[in-house]
This record gives sequence, structure tokens and C-alpha cells, in this order.
Amino acid sequence: MPAEKIQMINGQIKVPAHPIIPFIIGDGIGPDIWRASVRVFDAAVEKAYGGERKIEWKEVLAGEKAFQATGEWLPKTTLDALKEYLVSIKGPLTTPVGGGIRSLNVAMRQELDLYACVRPVRWFNKVPSPVKHPEKVDMVIFRENTEDIYAGIEYMYGTEGANKLLKFLTEELGVNKIRFPETSSLGIKPVSQEGTERLVRAAIKYAIEHKKPTVSIVHKGNIMKFTEGGFKNWGYELAAREFGEYVYTWEQWEKTKKELGEDAANKEIAVAKAHNKIIVNDVIADNFLQQILLAPQDYSVIATLNLNGDYISDALAAAVGGIGIAPGGNINYATGHAVFEATHGTAPRFADTDTMNPSSVILSGVMMLEYLGWKEAADIITHGLSTAIMRKRVTIDFYKLMDDATLVKTSEFADEIIKQL
Ligand code: NAD
Repeated sequence: MPAEKIQMINGQIKVPAHPIIPFIIGDGIGPDIWRASVRVFDAAVEKAYGGERKIEWKEVLAGEKAFQATGEWLPKTTLDALKEYLVSIKGPLTTPVGGGIRSLNVAMRQELDLYACVRPVRWFNKVPSPVKHPEKVDMVIFRENTEDIYAGIEYMYGTEGANKLLKFLTEELGVNKIRFPETSSLGIKPVSQEGTERLVRAAIKYAIEHKKPTVSIVHKGNIMKFTEGGFKNWGYELAAREFGEYVYTWEQWEKTKKELGEDAANKEIAVAKAHNKIIVNDVIADNFLQQILLAPQDYSVIATLNLNGDYISDALAAAVGGIGIAPGGNINYATGHAVFEATHGTAPRFADTDTMNPSSVILSGVMMLEYLGWKEAADIITHGLSTAIMRKRVTIDFYKLMDDATLVKTSEFADEIIKQL
């Protein structure tokens, strides 16, 4: 079985039986966690396909390991490999202090135009959680990854850039709302129609493929009318235009209500639900942060902008007790490029202790296997992991919060999962 590249052919990813997949081992606790995770991936693929499929892992360097070997934090050869092999997975990376790179993760996302940051959030039975009903949380967040205030267009007050921009705003555009112009740093928030559409399209497609009941557009359009409000409006328009036969939107409901009255609109939405149409609605971001505590069962797929998505991801992960186990994927569905990753950091104090929880990388691997269409292998890992947690054989982070648990090392947690496959 020769090892081959994954390719994108006519808009579909083509995965050979023996695909080459680059991995970045990560800094700090990364190596411990990766060593445990890769054993789980290989065992699950072997178990699911009896030797007919196998991943050829190809190490590529980034972070401290790359810096020590090459003097660069993110060598061009690594970026080239991520581009060439399409799908990859990584551990956490140190953010270099100084040296001109803001964040290796951000650099990778920008270089590969990985516009969707996908974060599934669900509860695993017995995981300690601060809320009463963590089992009601089952959402997938689609966070726009390339635009918004995160684009990095910022000027420190008093610099030439800030002064020029201020002059332009006040003199050319007549802006007089900057309260303290002399000491204001300024940032730009680009939100485009194309950027919104590709993200919302990915979220709706996901909802269709996974038979989810709703897609919620989360925004602050009440305050930022053209950026966040644009995101909402373009999202609704795209939903109606491209997915009319699959969805019913709240915008449609409003329109019918205005034209024919509320009863007619309610009837329309009831018919849509009876036909299993996906309801596309929208929620203001601050209200959404309440709703995830008060009525999480009402939400399934979330499409949101970059900054909102950052907050929401962590708030939701905390609700299911899962900051240490939350997985993520950064994906460009048009080119097929995808980097799956642990969402926690490098926890450098615990490097080489074999004590930390490897679940974030393991569940990112599950997302990767699903993306490859290797659902059988993905499902048995999820089952193995939830069984290990249910049996309370867990790493220190969970051990400290659970009654009657057995403490296991990172490597032993992987053994527990493999036993359950
Ligand atoms: P961190 O996530 O590394 O650690 C915070 C704390 O969370 C740790 O002290 C530990 O108690 C706990 N924790 C984290 N991962 C865990 C795991 N797998 N199992 C059990 N407990 C775990 O956050 P930080 O200390 O703010 O950041 C350290 C470094 O990581 C920084 O250089 C930062 O830039 C980087 N970072 C990288 C990523 C990434 O690569 N995706 C994400 C966040 C932070």
C-alpha cells in the first residue's frame, strides 16, 4: 500500500487508503500528548479497517522545535507541506515573544486562508461541570477566522499610522465621535460579504449533512450595523438564496408576519419544521451568552464572527467542563486545507511530566477522521474516550474534580481508550 497525498479533485477531497498526514508535535506538553494521541489514532484505524487503511504520519516542524533546528519559528518548508498535503494536525505552540510573529496559529490560518474555525462542544458523561445540565449542550461553533477586529489592523496612539488615520477620519469623513482623539489607539474591523457567505455556507452545509435542527447567526448588529449587521443580513440572504429548499429563516417569518400577519407566519414556520427544514435564526451576542446557560438545548450550529466566536468557544467549553478537552479544526472548504488542533496552550510547567489530558488532541483527531470520511474510526475513538471518562480513569485535571476517580498518566489514559476500542 503506497503512501499517497490527499487531494482536492473537483471540489471533493480524495483520501487514499494510505494518506500522508503532516503533524506538528507542539511545544511544552505537546510531545507527551501527541505520543499518547497517535497511538489511539493508529489503533482505531487498524481496528476499524483491519489493516486496509493506515495513516502515514509525517512530522513537520513549528514552534520551539523548529526554532532550535532552523532558527525559524514557522519554516517555509512546514507551510509548504501543510499546503501540499492538505490535511494536518497539531499540538499547542508557544507564541514567540518579540521577533515579529504575532502568533504561529494566526500565521498558519492566514497563510492557508483557513476561514472556518470549527469547534464542536458537547459533554461527556461524568466530566465535572459548573452547570446543572451540561448534557443539554451539544453545539458546533463556526467562527469566522480571517476577518473582524482580528485582522490585526491596529495603530498605537501617537504613532504616524494612528495620526494619519485620525486625520483622515476627522478631515475626510467628518468623524467627530472619538472621545479622546489624542490618546486613542485605533483598530479596523473589516467584515465582508464574501467572508460572511463562505462561513455561513459552511455552517449550513454542516447542519444539512449532520441533520441539525437550527443554524443561529450570532452577532452584534444592533450596535455595529454594517459589520456585524452585515454579517447577519448577508447570512440570511445566502441561506434563502442557496439553501431555500433546506431552510426556513426568521427573516422569512418576519416578512410573512408583516405581509399576512403573525398567525400566517407561525403556520409557515410550523410547516417548515414538520418538513424537517433547518431553522436559520439570529441572536444578539450578549443575549446568546445568557442563552447558553439558560437554554442551551435550543441551539445546535452557530455561525459567528471572529471575536464573538472566540468568547463563545471558551464560554461553551467551560460549561461542559471541557477547556482541557475541547477540540478544534481550522478549515477552508473550498481548497480542502484543514489544520486540526488542540485548543489549549502548551502548559510549559507540565512539559515532560506525562500527566496532562490528551483529549483535546484526540478529539481533534476525531474531527480530522470525520473530515476524511473515516467515520468508523472516529466513532470508536469517541466511544473509547467517553468510556474511559465514565469509568473515571482520568488525568489529573479531571481527577481533582471527580469523586472516587483513579488517577492515570497521559500515556495510561491512551491505553484506557485503546482497551475500549
Ligand atoms: P495553557 O492552556 O497552556 O495553560 C493554562 C492551564 O490550563 C495550565 O496551567 C493547565 O493547568 C491547564 N491545561 C492546559 N492544557 C491542559 C491539558 N491538556 N490537560 C490538563 N490541563 C491543561 O495556557 P497559557 O498558560 O495561557 O499559555 C501557555 C502558552 O501556550 C503560551 O505561549 C500561549 O501563547 C500558548 N498557547 C497556544 C495555543 C495553541 O497553540 N493553540 C493556545 C493557547 C495558548
